[in-house]
Amino acid sequence: MDYTTQMNAARQGIITNEMKKVSEYENINIDELVSLVAQGKVCIPANKNHKSLKPYGIGKKLKTKINVNLGTSRDCLDMDLEMEKVMSAVNMGAESIMDLSSYGDTQKFRRKLIDECPAIIGTVPIYDAVVYYNKPLRTITAKEWIDVVRMHAEDGVDFMTIHCGVNKHTAERFKQSKRLTNIVSRGGSIIFAWMELTGNENPFFEYYDEILDICRQYDVTISLGDACRPGSIHDAGDISQIEELVTLGELTNRAWAKDVQVMIEGPGHMPLNQIKANMEIQETICNGAPFYVLGPLVTDIAPGYDHITSAIGGAIAATYGASFLCYVTPAEHLRLPNLEDVKEGIIASKIAAHAADIAKGIPGATDWDNAMSQARRDLDWEKMFDLAIDSEKARRYRAESKPENEDTCTMCGKMCAVRNINKILKGEDVDIME
Ligand code: SF4
Repeated sequence: MDYTTQMNAARQGIITNEMKKVSEYENINIDELVSLVAQGKVCIPANKNHKSLKPYGIGKKLKTKINVNLGTSRDCLDMDLEMEKVMSAVNMGAESIMDLSSYGDTQKFRRKLIDECPAIIGTVPIYDAVVYYNKPLRTITAKEWIDVVRMHAEDGVDFMTIHCGVNKHTAERFKQSKRLTNIVSRGGSIIFAWMELTGNENPFFEYYDEILDICRQYDVTISLGDACRPGSIHDAGDISQIEELVTLGELTNRAWAKDVQVMIEGPGHMPLNQIKANMEIQETICNGAPFYVLGPLVTDIAPGYDHITSAIGGAIAATYGASFLCYVTPAEHLRLPNLEDVKEGIIASKIAAHAADIAKGIPGATDWDNAMSQARRDLDWEKMFDLAIDSEKARRYRAESKPENEDTCTMCGKMCAVRNINKILKGEDVDIME
């Protein structure tokens, strides 16, 4: 069939294999899905060179997806360990992996990931360009930045975070705005520094059409990065964030004009009471493009527990419009996450996504909850373990504290309300104190 991107296919009424798989997985009518992809309200990140991909859709009317950030760094350069984390993340239900490698042979790791991993693969070419060229930042040319985007596209990356929104105008606003935490986006800080050092316009903004042509050729979904995402409660919803969001809205329309699929990246740190409005503003400014949120963390005071601060924000954000949650681990702000941190981050994020799916009324979302509740009513512990989002932990907790009676737990013992009501409703006697 003759199409470039999933969006291009949808606009011609072509049903791709990826669309069929997404429609089956989501239990959504295929014509409705095609219409959503054509409008840009759903994207299906699926690079033509990612042959091992299990495709997922991200956006309106679909289940909330989660992304897991992994990759090597200067201090943690063990590729095998990172691959182990990747596979355990996929087994725990992560639909997407972002390879944020920033040290070593990043292309080798990226290619291995794309060869072996069925999850959606995302990258941030800005990080990789710095590693790849291994020379002073100010000497990297605009062409060289863009060449790295092309290299990632050829390698089979499904979506790329590109920080095109922080142009000279936004940068000027940022400098005037006196933020508490300045720019906390790693890619954003690199490109801002490059702009300051060279005096040049952001090359991803200046040569945006060239970037779009690359994305169109390989069907890379462009994830419009938010260099000015708030990095603290103080900076949430400030002029820098909104200024950049307006630019992202304009860039969304330009991408769609070339049939390039788009996601918009969002906060960041944000008080609970601002999240709903923020989702609505994004929806309006970016014409319903899927929103990918990096949190939001609803307070700044909990290093070691930021999987919780972000899950609270993520659940609210997804309830009011976000489609894609970037996980946050307990190691956030502290160090590169280890395997246990990754697990905790994924579980927290999956809980947030599922809670939002219930609130959004995603068809079938409550089936899982109802099955768990039935197992609880039946005091069927094995079934509860099977259904638990973290079976291993649930099983371990019960094993660590054995009840006197198998049909209770050590919380209430013979006062077990579930057991006693079951008995009474069956006409049986209830003995509590004997
Ligand atoms: S003992 Fe209490 S906590 Fe445990 S299953 Fe029964 S009612 Fe629930």
